[in-house]
Amino acid sequence: MQDFLYIRGNKLVVKNLLLIQILIMAGCFVPQTDKYESQRQKMVETQIRKRGITNPEVLDAMRKVPRHLFVPKDYENDAYNDYPLPIGYGQTISQPFIVAYMTEAVKPANRKNALEIGTGSGYQAAILAEIVDKVYTIEIVPELAKESAERLKNMGYDNIVCKFGDGYQGWSEHAPFDIIVVTAAPDQIPQPLIDQLAENGRLIIPVGSPGGVQELILVIKRNGKTETRRLTFVRFVPFKRL
Ligand code: SAH
Repeated sequence: MQDFLYIRGNKLVVKNLLLIQILIMAGCFVPQTDKYESQRQKMVETQIRKRGITNPEVLDAMRKVPRHLFVPKDYENDAYNDYPLPIGYGQTISQPFIVAYMTEAVKPANRKNALEIGTGSGYQAAILAEIVDKVYTIEIVPELAKESAERLKNMGYDNIVCKFGDGYQGWSEHAPFDIIVVTAAPDQIPQPLIDQLAENGRLIIPVGSPGGVQELILVIKRNGKTETRRLTFVRFVPFKRL
């Protein structure tokens, strides 16, 4: 073996095939990270863990899912900041803390089947899909439904099923659901969603007047009866009807 590494001009030249193969293989064992990795870890520490989210599955999912791939290119640099961002068609991706808070509230560990109403960018669906077996998600804006389905497929989320439609009626073919997360605000909880909640299932939904402040409500089904808890005030985009 001779001449396998030398400098030509200001370039390092690698001339030995075996060495090139070794370098390529070494690259395969370096953990794959992206340029937002440190921002994402910082987001989880400062915006999520420090504000009281403790569920390890939720924290791990938020550490893992590359949020910058869910926002329009122009907002990529803002993806890990502490606020919601526009995703087109008058809709928004929620603030990271709200995603973590809603996910923790439905106690996702050991739960199998989740339904989300309001796919939007697909970010909340991806967070759920890191924790539960299967996520069904419905989006009412056709363009967003198509874009997010493609995004999630390209990212390899084969446990998420997307569809375009009005989520008011839920998705009876796949009910009952252990978890239902609604990310748009109706003025009342749609009855079909309560009906499609499994025993011990949890539904989280912002309820209130469109454009105003809404209350985040948690519904738990026990012995066929529902128990309702009011969690906090939030601001979500309106729940639309087809
Ligand atoms: N979960 C999303 C947040 C998107 S904002 C994310 O992680 O990015 C809420 C979304 O709910 C919007 O995309 C809006 O178009 C959608 N939406 C509103 N009413 C709906 C309905 N009745 N059925 C399904 N989706 C609805």
